[in-house]
Amino acid sequence: MTTVYEGELWTIQSFVSGFQNNAYLLSCNRTGVSVVIDTPDQPFELIEAAVKTDVQAVLITHNHLDHLQGFNDVMAKIEVPVGIGADDAHALLSKPFGQVDVSHGNPISYGDIKLRSIATPGHTPGSTCYMLPSEQPGATPHVFTGDTLFPGGPGKSGSPEAFTQLVSSIENELLTLPEDSVVLPGHGSSTTIKESQNEFEVFSKNPRRNGLYGDVTWAGDNS
Ligand SMILES: [Zn+2]
Repeated sequence: MTTVYEGELWTIQSFVSGFQNNAYLLSCNRTGVSVVIDTPDQPFELIEAAVKTDVQAVLITHNHLDHLQGFNDVMAKIEVPVGIGADDAHALLSKPFGQVDVSHGNPISYGDIKLRSIATPGHTPGSTCYMLPSEQPGATPHVFTGDTLFPGGPGKSGSPEAFTQLVSSIENELLTLPEDSVVLPGHGSSTTIKESQNEFEVFSKNPRRNGLYGDVTWAGDNS
């Protein structure tokens, strides 16, 4: 477990699973309420930390197995409403838990935690990012990007159409966020919107072949 951020209002901890997935626990310092972001395999450390807080919701960034392998383990200990993008929700629909509305732009508020859902289709149809806006001077905004945006590039896309959709989601919904926002992805280390803007600028100026998709990096040879 790593404390990623400790501000006046909220604290963010990250947990790395066996498949190098990041789960996050976001807690309100004042009230002790919290939100879990993603449930990868072997979530025991995540659960141990989460049960010390008052968990209100589990938010899923997208329907890929590596982000959900620990879902049943988490739910066995913390039965709370779940949020997942509507186009990815089929994986969880049979589960009896309440649902958090994570449609685009929807505010999600617990204690001093004020999140906003951002629909970012492309990596999966229902991929959703969660933005934690700055609510006080000096507080750093954060965005949980799942497999949509990583340091150095977008997540994997399954077709040229999905890649176009993914780039459009990133360009229109993520790179327009405050540039000091910290990007907390579903795998690996963090970056910032500013760094991502700079990397994307290189990508958008370089030649790009038609039909590009798959494992693309912003600085790679995509011609
Ligand atoms: Zn994924």
